[in-house]
Amino acid sequence: MDILLVDDDQVDRTAITRTLKKSNLNVNIEEAVTVDQGLELYAKHAFDIILLDYSMPARDGIEMILDIRNESKGSSTAIVMMSTFEDESIALECIKAGAQDFLIKSDISEKKLRRAILHSTTRHELEVKLFETYQQVKQLAETDSLTKLPNRYFFDESLKLAITNNRRNDHTLALLLFDIDNFKLINDNFGHDVGDLLLKKNVAKIKKCLRGNELFARLGGDEFAITLSNLQNSEQALLVAQRIISTMQTPIEIATTTINSTVSIGIALHPCNGKTSEELFKYADIAMYRAKKLGKNRICFFEEEMQQKFHRRLQVELELRDAIEQQQFELYYQPVIDPINQSVTGFEALIRWNVAGAVRSPDDFIEIAEETQQISDIGLWVIDEAISTLAKWNKSRRKPLTMAINISAVQLGDFTVVEALADCLSKYDVSAHLIEIELTETALLKDSITSRQVLTDIVEGGCHLSLDDFGTGYSSIAHLRNHPISIVKIDKSLMPYDKHDIKRIALVEGLVSMASILGLGVIAEGVETEQHAELCKQLNIGRAQGYYYSRPQSQRYIEETYL
Ligand code: C2E
Ligand code: MG
Ligand code: MG
Repeated sequence: MDILLVDDDQVDRTAITRTLKKSNLNVNIEEAVTVDQGLELYAKHAFDIILLDYSMPARDGIEMILDIRNESKGSSTAIVMMSTFEDESIALECIKAGAQDFLIKSDISEKKLRRAILHSTTRHELEVKLFETYQQVKQLAETDSLTKLPNRYFFDESLKLAITNNRRNDHTLALLLFDIDNFKLINDNFGHDVGDLLLKKNVAKIKKCLRGNELFARLGGDEFAITLSNLQNSEQALLVAQRIISTMQTPIEIATTTINSTVSIGIALHPCNGKTSEELFKYADIAMYRAKKLGKNRICFFEEEMQQKFHRRLQVELELRDAIEQQQFELYYQPVIDPINQSVTGFEALIRWNVAGAVRSPDDFIEIAEETQQISDIGLWVIDEAISTLAKWNKSRRKPLTMAINISAVQLGDFTVVEALADCLSKYDVSAHLIEIELTETALLKDSITSRQVLTDIVEGGCHLSLDDFGTGYSSIAHLRNHPISIVKIDKSLMPYDKHDIKRIALVEGLVSMASILGLGVIAEGVETEQHAELCKQLNIGRAQGYYYSRPQSQRYIEETYL
């Protein structure tokens, strides 16, 4: 057993050495007369135990314990403190600092010393084990097992600390929040193992964009966060974010698959955006949400106005919850007109929301209802209401009217629309060919096996499919040919301003002839003036809608005016 004896008193050293030698322990003793000398020896050699004098002239024993224990908590050397005085508080102080036992010099006998040495080494071994276990548990609690990055818990704590430090100087701190765009799709298409690998590889790539002093954590799933401290300005945060966006441009190879993944990054700044970590998180989240909305693969800084929009969105989402139950929705109907003889051929059902005495237009809530999936139930209500109204209107008509119903992309995610249409058509005894289901091109972009089947089923059930707002977005002929579409609705924004607006006139003309080549029916939207109506006649556009003929009106108004 290797023992280091640190004591400034020659007599005490000799007495202790003698006692040690007399014990049955097989000891090898080195002596030091000061703490510094002791530390020097300690650095060179791994001792099993240090016998340490409490009071020494230059630096005392406690200082030596603190030095040793602070340097390495897992050191395997046990320490027994020795003092001339019997003082409970000193003994406690020594144990707290990291000694394993405390002896009064005058009490030291061969037996006591031997026992102190053996107990201390055992006690110390246990303490080291406990410390190691604690470290492991701490590590587990603070790191994400997949990427080995700090986890949300650790990140939260560290962000709070970083904010406290940032308050003391006038630097900027940035919180970057980001996730991998369409990660769910990647997981669904390639499986979770590939998803996990992709996360790991992306983490490695992103790490290269950082200097190493930033805090980079995985918050969960595909969501990550980075704290950048001590920035001079927000530009520096933007630079890091740009590096991340551009490193993602290189595709990742996993087994035989090449995956292109992108991220959307939201940034909030301390102190200008928020004062607390909760605020920063909330604002960076709002900014990330905005980045996604603007088309993903981009960076967005938080702005005040975003928060207002976000709150409004939450408000609408909440209000929408019991809108159906409280019968707050109403359908307005816009006549669809034959431009030649101005007769009504049918109607388009357009939803309105009556809340607190005001009428809200679909632009104020449809998008939110889509994001929250609430559109599914609203959509079912629309189908039922529109078809039952049409049944009532057609009852005593020789030539039946048509009804156009708008549906959203979300409703193509399962077959409830198909079932609802079939149910309502039979319940109200309406012939399917009178129903025109309107879809926008964006809805067609979310192409999937299910959505294709839903569209096919709608058409096989006898309803028509029309492509709404044509000419605004992609205006792709492929969409017209690859889906069972039979009608295109030319968007209102393409109606010419006046007769000199040659560009728009030519565009409408082109679209009409293309539709005719493809054998599709055409409806012009946004017919607001006599000149528009004339254009429809000239171009042989079969049907038209617009304020020139009529605005969308309530059921009662339509019944009093047209039926
Ligand atoms: P949309 O299907 O393209 O409907 C035409 C929109 O243009 C309607 O707006 C209509 O009021 C408006 N409009 C009609 N004639 C004119 C005109 O001459 N000039 C101008 N400037 N505008 C005209 P609204 O009712 O506000 O609906 C907006 C959009 O909301 C609709 O566009 C449709 O995409 C969506 N929407 C309406 N009802 C529903 C619904 O029940 N379900 C779903 N998913 N979407 C709906
Ligand atoms: Mg429409
Ligand atoms: Mg339209």
